[in-house]
Amino acid sequence: MAVTRTFSIIKPDATRRNLTGAITKMLEDAGLRVVASKRIQMTKEQAEGFYAVHSERPFFNDLVSFMISGPVVVQVLEGEDAVKANRDVMGATNPADAAEGTIRKTFAESIEANSAHGSDSDENAAIEIAYFFKPEEIVG
Ligand code: UDP
Repeated sequence: MAVTRTFSIIKPDATRRNLTGAITKMLEDAGLRVVASKRIQMTKEQAEGFYAVHSERPFFNDLVSFMISGPVVVQVLEGEDAVKANRDVMGATNPADAAEGTIRKTFAESIEANSAHGSDSDENAAIEIAYFFKPEEIVG
């Protein structure tokens, strides 16, 4: 298996509860290395652009409002099959469906305020990393 990169967000419900370290530790314990990280306040335009694929979904406006309700921590993660490793430790979108020991089962408040984002493919990971990071901000 190849070492690859993925993109992660620690969402506002988690930064509000001071869970940045706890979530990062779960990512690291899953074999992922943080090769870039920054805490930002997303603008409405940034959040709308990031979730553009969901723009026709009924939850879109609420999701954008949630994502700009407080700071987020955006990260680039590196490891063996990083997209899958990250999604496995993140757990299902709805915390009610997430497996024991996953980030969302442990910390998520709701299907919307579910503490973490992780890219769903290598292709989207590359797009999402480039959306938030310049190449020189990533140090492997
Ligand atoms: N979401 C929501 N309501 C839903 C489904 C999703 O608020 O019914 C939010 C949730 O924060 C989720 C994000 O939209 O993480 C993106 O949804 P996606 O289906 O891509 O899930 P993910 O890949 O994050 O598990």
